[in-house]
Amino acid sequence: MQNISSYDFTGKKAIVRVDFNVPLNENFEITDDTRIRAAIPTLKKVLEKGGSLIIMSHLGRPKGVTEKYSLKHIIYRIEELLGTKIQFADDCMKASQTAAALKPGEVLLLENLRFYAEEEGKPRGLAEDATDEEKKAAKSAVKESQKAFVKTLASYADCYINDAFGTAHRAHGSTALIAQYFPNDKMFGYVMEGEIKAIDKALGDPARPLTAIIGGAKVSSKIGIIEHLLGLVDNLVIGGGMVYTFMKAQGGKIGSSLCEDDQMDVALNIMAKAKEKGVKILLTDDVVAADSFSNDAKTIICPSNDIPDGFEGMDAAPSSVEEIKAVIMASKTILWNGPIGVFEMPNFAVGTNAIAETLKKATEQSAFTLVGGGDSVAAVTQMGYADKVSYVSTGGGAMLEYLEGKVLPGIAAIRE
Ligand code: AMP
Repeated sequence: MQNISSYDFTGKKAIVRVDFNVPLNENFEITDDTRIRAAIPTLKKVLEKGGSLIIMSHLGRPKGVTEKYSLKHIIYRIEELLGTKIQFADDCMKASQTAAALKPGEVLLLENLRFYAEEEGKPRGLAEDATDEEKKAAKSAVKESQKAFVKTLASYADCYINDAFGTAHRAHGSTALIAQYFPNDKMFGYVMEGEIKAIDKALGDPARPLTAIIGGAKVSSKIGIIEHLLGLVDNLVIGGGMVYTFMKAQGGKIGSSLCEDDQMDVALNIMAKAKEKGVKILLTDDVVAADSFSNDAKTIICPSNDIPDGFEGMDAAPSSVEEIKAVIMASKTILWNGPIGVFEMPNFAVGTNAIAETLKKATEQSAFTLVGGGDSVAAVTQMGYADKVSYVSTGGGAMLEYLEGKVLPGIAAIRE
């Protein structure tokens, strides 16, 4: 693989997979351009080094050509941020001539890749009552035509850059399969490089103590991450709605708190494994419980294993928050995924906000702090601390799979 900083782009055409899946309002105006801004350093690098650009992305989840999901809506913003006019191919499979004519410094944006089923390699338009045989045939047909799709995209360029961390966990045409056509001319863009470096710094050879704070609603959705982290961390803070499954599994009384009865064995297994590996687990011992799932509910503070009937755990109580803060401040590396309370309701966002605040303080004292996963990212952003922690991952699902220790196809395709 090559390195974007040292690669010689002079006279070369670079096809770059970016994640321009930005939210649009009903007038097709961009409401958050973070993802476009994130990719600009990569795009500018190619242009500054004498190359030309073919930019490709998906937008939304179209099931065919759909006006609403056309990338033409975002051209103006890319032009503003790049400071140059760009050309647009309104069919990503019909861009050969325009791509061939690109001169150094010129930019071509391809229409939404997902207007073609071949991008994802999944059949579309199958009848609801399709038989297994029919499903299998449709799948192998799309896989077959995917080869030509990918080959066509690859034919436009001399080198390939993947800068779409948000889709790195998908083995799609433009995120993974295309890399095979550029065995000596493929590389990560700066977004990808940044994400990989940050996670490797946190989990590869971290400064210790290493603490992970895993919150959120359900054990079932975090089990992969927790199991992987048990082999890496010194401290594991488990917060949010997950706490009550652990408490009930150990014989606690949890009132009407969120609980996954079918995950109680999993919870006990996590506790046993942590003990075996010498990982200190911190479950919020005291919680704020409410008599209804609403911001204005009546609240009490009680032990998380002794919640009265009619009450449900909504947030970590001050004493538990203090404990978590102490663990954070005593750590050199901290990874945070998931809120530790129902933070969408201001009265139950206190614990989650305190974590964001403490991560900021830990960062000031030179701890490495990584925040990843939708809701915790929302929490640090809401607090205005997105640039006060060491790294905020934009990856969503890709980040979660990376934290589970999975090999991401988009990363593997560049490295292999
Ligand atoms: P996740 O997507 O798994 O990270 O879960 C995030 C969600 O967990 C947020 O919407 C929170 O409101 C929710 N959550 C956190 N703590 C609790 C709790 N004690 N009870 C119910 N939901 C919670």
